Amino acid sequence: MNYVTAQNTYDVIVIGSGPAGRRAAVQSAKLGKSVLVVEKNRRVGGVSLHTGTIPSKTLRETVLNLTGWRERGFYGRSYRVKKDIRAVDLLSRQHKTLDHEVEVLEHQFQRNGVTTIYGTARFVDTGRVEVMTAQGSIGTYRAERFVIAVGTRPFRPDYVPFNQVTVLDTDDIIQIDHIPRSMAIIGAGVIGVEYASIFSALDVQVTLIEPRTSILDFVDSEIIAEFTHEMRDRGVAMRLGSTVEQITLSGMRPIVQIAGGRSVHADMLLFAAGRVGATSPLNLEAIGLAVDHRGRVTVDSNTFQTSVPHIYAVGDVIGFPSLASTSMEQGRIAACHAFGVPPPPAPEYFPYGIYAVPEISTVGMSEAEVAGRGIAYECGIARFRETSRGQIMGIQSGMMKMIFSIKTGRLLGCHILGEGATELIHIGQAVINLKGTIDFFLENTFNYPTLAEAYKIAALDAWNRMAMTSRAMA
Ligand SMILES: Cc1cc2nc3c(=O)[nH]c(=O)nc-3n(C[C@H](O)[C@H](O)[C@H](O)COP(=O)(O)OP(=O)(O)OC[C@H]3O[C@@H](n4cnc5c(N)ncnc54)[C@H](O)[C@@H]3O)c2cc1C
Repeated sequence: MNYVTAQNTYDVIVIGSGPAGRRAAVQSAKLGKSVLVVEKNRRVGGVSLHTGTIPSKTLRETVLNLTGWRERGFYGRSYRVKKDIRAVDLLSRQHKTLDHEVEVLEHQFQRNGVTTIYGTARFVDTGRVEVMTAQGSIGTYRAERFVIAVGTRPFRPDYVPFNQVTVLDTDDIIQIDHIPRSMAIIGAGVIGVEYASIFSALDVQVTLIEPRTSILDFVDSEIIAEFTHEMRDRGVAMRLGSTVEQITLSGMRPIVQIAGGRSVHADMLLFAAGRVGATSPLNLEAIGLAVDHRGRVTVDSNTFQTSVPHIYAVGDVIGFPSLASTSMEQGRIAACHAFGVPPPPAPEYFPYGIYAVPEISTVGMSEAEVAGRGIAYECGIARFRETSRGQIMGIQSGMMKMIFSIKTGRLLGCHILGEGATELIHIGQAVINLKGTIDFFLENTFNYPTLAEAYKIAALDAWNRMAMTSRAMA
């Protein structure tokens, strides 16, 4: 391997050690290249590991376990595993998970001979970066190629009186020292919806405020209608079509003034309305790169090259879909391209997981997209309570919807709401990306009892409807 420690010239310098940077670095090392990762934080892992994906999912799992959420179908809404849940109960599991994940990542870098330095990188020119450590020392490093994987930070507009105690952004929320009785959440994107449903499962009175009149528009509307109904049914106030005019504090209590005269009073406010690219310290002007109004870099969507061909950008800093899962793939593809090993084209569809309570996961086209393309289609629906596994687990809600082409039988979209959705979706993803048809579900045997049996039920439902359609047309 072309690798020497304590050098200042590398084949590639990766800026940022989140999922995108991590995968770019490891892939480059596996191709025999010398790799330097520059990380601004004290520990590697990025937003994904320290404030985003892993902490929020660990919080969710802890809440579901301590509240006994999954057992309430049997034992009633008042069932609790732990009666008096405190913030410290939520945080202790997080620290353990996080330490373990950091260790795994550090070991992965070590095994692959990736050098890591801690400090903030800025470009000097198109071949050099300067890295300033927390102690203020500066070093200059050269490389033939660069990967910008700096991710994002929470958007913090001036009109929000953040105080990290009662008015928080999505980085602060995982550090709370008490569980509030009521919480207002501004922004019903994926993160806002996830936290709204998690805190509601803790019996916090949640009000979700969103200027648009609908939520999660990229998900099939039937799934969202069902999800919204569940959220409202358990007491989440959803103030859609509500523009925030002003946020004030009465003592420490936030008050959100909504256009039209309504206001929301709560013990805690979470501002979850967007993130901005962490590009400002990078001195991108020095290399002739511009960013958009949210600090994001534009790239070629196949190669992830910026307008400076040997400088790549991957992960959240390039915008949609802003997922840890897709960021990793982008990092890998960029590294392969940079070193002349172009990978095969990425499959057309990737899954989207929304770890709300209940989970949502989706792959392929929504019904509106299929209809918009003028494809003749039929849908099949299965309810989890129709499966024996669902009965055993006491599941009362949850559904799967599949959309098939009538002409070819191809599976076009698969959308799931409920327990295990983010795991189950991968069966649908495989069938879609392998261009499979309804026959796969009709002809194959599924383990019994499983929630995956819902695939068979939904396929049979679609097949019956298709048969009815063809009989009606005959
Ligand atoms: C609350 C929340 C929940 C989420 N849940 C999910 C989920 O369930 N599933 C999912 O797939 N995705 C989820 N995401 C999104 C996921 O976290 C991001 O898509 C992912 O972290 C992006 O990876 P990245 O490598 O692009 O950037 P990041 O993870 O943001 O890492 C960027 C790194 O670059 C470093 N850096 C920045 N500037 C510099 C500099 N100048 N010099 C050196 N280092 C620098 C930062 O310190 C950071 O460590 C969630 C995000 C949030 C906020």
